[in-house]
Amino acid sequence: MTRHKVMILGTGPAGLTAAIYAARANLQPYVVEGNEPGGQLTLTTEVENFPGFPEGIMGPELMANMRQQAERFGAEFVSGWVTAVDLEKRPFRVTVNEDEVHEADAIIVSTGASAKMLGIEAETDYIGRGVSTCATCDGFFFRNKPIIVVGGGDSAMEEATFLSKFASEVTIVHRRGELRASKVMQDRARNNEKIKWKLNHTPLGVEADGNKVTGLRVRDNHSGEEKVLPVDGIFVAIGHSPNTAFLGGKLDLDTVGYIKTQGNTSLTSMEGVFACGDVMDSHYRQAITAAGSGCKAAMDVEKYLEGSSVHDWSQTVSAGH
Ligand code: NAP
Repeated sequence: MTRHKVMILGTGPAGLTAAIYAARANLQPYVVEGNEPGGQLTLTTEVENFPGFPEGIMGPELMANMRQQAERFGAEFVSGWVTAVDLEKRPFRVTVNEDEVHEADAIIVSTGASAKMLGIEAETDYIGRGVSTCATCDGFFFRNKPIIVVGGGDSAMEEATFLSKFASEVTIVHRRGELRASKVMQDRARNNEKIKWKLNHTPLGVEADGNKVTGLRVRDNHSGEEKVLPVDGIFVAIGHSPNTAFLGGKLDLDTVGYIKTQGNTSLTSMEGVFACGDVMDSHYRQAITAAGSGCKAAMDVEKYLEGSSVHDWSQTVSAGH
C-alpha cells in the first residue's frame, strides 16, 4: 500500500489547479483522473473566457496544458476512479479501480458535477457539434441562429435569457405544462420577445446531418404528434448532479448533494478532507472559479499538513485576513 501526503480526486480545472499548487509546495500529490479525465471542459470546443488566452483555447487543450504543468512539478497521475474511501481511519484509505488501496494524510475532493443529459437518440454523439450543456461556454457560437433550450427549471430560464443575446430565436422545450422555475425567472423569460415556448413537448431525438445538429424531434404530449423543430443548437438545461456518491454519506452535503465547505475555505465537515470546484459550488460553475477554489484547497492542505491548528487558521481565513 502506498502512502501519499495528499490525494486529489478528479482532474477538472479545480483538481488540476490543486495539483499544480500542491506539487509546487513539494507535497507530491497523487491525482486520480476520474471518470471524465479533464472534466467538463473536455466536452466543449473553444473556451473564450478563460483569462490569458486572447484568441481562445480548445477545452481539451486547456486541460492537457494544466495537467502538463502539474506533472512538471512532480504530480503523479493514475487513470481510473475512486470506488471507495475510508475516512474513519488515519491515514485515510482510498480505493482506486476496485482493488488498488492507497493511504493519504489529506484528500482533496474535486470530482465535479455532471450535467444531466436527456438520454435521447444521438444526443451524446453531437455534444460540441450543436448539443451543449453550457450556455456561458457555447452561446457565442450561435449568433443569429435559432436554438432550443430544454428544461423547465431556473437553469433553463437563465440559459434561455442569456442565449437570447446571441441567438435569432430561443425556444424553450419543456415536458410539462407547468414550469418548475421561480416566478421571477419565469417572468424574465416570458417578457423576452426572443423566447418562444413549446410546453408539453417531450424531446425524442437529436436530428443531424452527420456533421452538426439540424433539429430536435419532439412529441406533442396532447396530440401525440411527432415533429422536428429545426434549430442549429440544443442546450440541455435539466440540472447537474454532483459526483459525491462514492463518499457514502461521510461528508456533510447540502440539500441537493453538494459538499458543504466552511466559510471562505475548502474545509469540509471531516478534518483533513478538502473540497473544491463544482462538487462544492452549484452556483458559479465556471472553469476559472473552479481553478481558484483548487488553489485554495491546495493552500489549505499545505497548512493542515504543517500541523497548523485547523481551528485557528480556518477562523482567520473565514474572516478574510
Ligand atoms: P431543476 O429545478 O431540477 O429543474 C430541472 C428541469 O428539467 C425540470 O423542469 C425538469 O422537468 C426538467 N427535466 C429533468 N429531467 C428531464 C428529462 N429527462 N427530460 C426532460 N426534462 C427534464 O434544475 P435546475 O433548473 O438546474 O435548478 C437546480 C437548482 O438550482 C434549483 O434549486 C434552482 O432554483 C437553482 N438555480 C437557481 C438559479 C438562479 O437563481 N439564478 C439558476 C439556476 C439554478 P420537470 O419540471 O417535469 O421535473
